[in-house]
Amino acid sequence: MFRTSISILLLSAATLSAQIMPPPADQQLAHDIYKQFVEIQSGFTTGSTTPVAEAAAARLKAAGFPDSDIFVGGANPKKANLVVRYHGTGAAKPILLLAHTDVVEAKREDWTTDPFQFIEKDGYFYGRGTGDDKAQAAVWIANLIRYKREGFKPDRDIIVALTADEEGGGPFNGVDWLLKNHRDFIDAELALNEGGWGESDGTRKISNNLQVSEKYVINFRFEVRNKGGHSSIPVADNAIYHLAGALDRLSRFGFPLKTNDVTAAYFGQLARIETGPITADLAKVAEGSQDGMQKVAAARPTWNATLRTTCVATQLEGGHARNALPQLAAANVNCRVLPEDSLEYVQNTLKKVVADDQVSITVVGEVSKSPASAMRPDVLNAVKRATAAEWPGLPVLPTMVMGATDGAYLRRAGIPTYGIQGFFFDRNDIRFHGRDERMGVQSFYEGQAFLYDVVKLLAKSGS
Ligand SMILES: [Zn+2]
Repeated sequence: MFRTSISILLLSAATLSAQIMPPPADQQLAHDIYKQFVEIQSGFTTGSTTPVAEAAAARLKAAGFPDSDIFVGGANPKKANLVVRYHGTGAAKPILLLAHTDVVEAKREDWTTDPFQFIEKDGYFYGRGTGDDKAQAAVWIANLIRYKREGFKPDRDIIVALTADEEGGGPFNGVDWLLKNHRDFIDAELALNEGGWGESDGTRKISNNLQVSEKYVINFRFEVRNKGGHSSIPVADNAIYHLAGALDRLSRFGFPLKTNDVTAAYFGQLARIETGPITADLAKVAEGSQDGMQKVAAARPTWNATLRTTCVATQLEGGHARNALPQLAAANVNCRVLPEDSLEYVQNTLKKVVADDQVSITVVGEVSKSPASAMRPDVLNAVKRATAAEWPGLPVLPTMVMGATDGAYLRRAGIPTYGIQGFFFDRNDIRFHGRDERMGVQSFYEGQAFLYDVVKLLAKSGS
């Protein structure tokens, strides 16, 4: 009896606090690489990813990786990528571990701390890129060095690619460049990437999210041209009023609410995680109920964005003088489109909503749509097993993200890609791209341990 209660006590203490942590030396290594990466200014427009790639290459060489397994290069001298290969037996096709090394710009005056100083304060690491995406970049490198030191022999090659220019895409995107110029370096059966993280409510972990698909982006230009005239003699046919009417109708319109395989599974899981009256509606959403979807979409903007394509006005221009009737009025409308909705469908729908042929609606820039990755059982099982080991009882949630990642390039190239990190963020305080970006210190090391397990499980065939 006495012995039993002691073991119960020990067990509950273990469940509460003792996450599996990497060995102290490996924590230190990950920490040092992370700090080094964050302190390199690799802003999308003002910085360079090349020093990050070079720093990673130097770490790998110091750990005994041969030059022949390391590649540094990219679309231009400031936009280098790193690719490193850790050899397995070759029994299965490689796995690719991806992270981007460029960051969104950060202004010192907007921040409490210097965004390009890696600062540990109050249980957090602060700095631009601590969340997006230098933690994962650092962990991939540190864990690869650990596999080598431990003599781990995977059934497939493990490839790590740290790439340029994810933020804003553009002509120097590292994944795009590698696919076009050195596909063999990164060709893989599957890839792991950013895009799926752990959700917490600030105090409690809610779920470990596995991103399987993502919305894609279309920018439309709403434009009205008019011959104009003197403002002292106004006429009804006014470019600004046409545009304003169109945008007003857009603001009151919502695309149809619906689910797909991934989002139905997501809401089904969420019904078991959430508490309160909303749980019944979440369960109804998983079964395809329109009534449930209406209530859930109204309850939280992120749920609304998960259940439908959204389009929102983001920029305005128009008029050329205070005392002239406008000859031009235009707006950018940014759409985040469900994978199953086509460009033509969205454009035709907007035309119907606007219902004014004075307003032209044209696509701005390139549209890149990518398929969802199939929900591979080996990936789901590896993520579930590693989650259960690290955070017993925590559910794994398949998700579709609203933003776009470099996973889109890989999926289009036929490499199924899964967003998984095991880093936890407060869902009410997401700071990616914002000021005072940060990562919980404990969360960083837990994520390191988790990703170590996930990759090890997936790199052994038949697991
Ligand atoms: Zn990112």
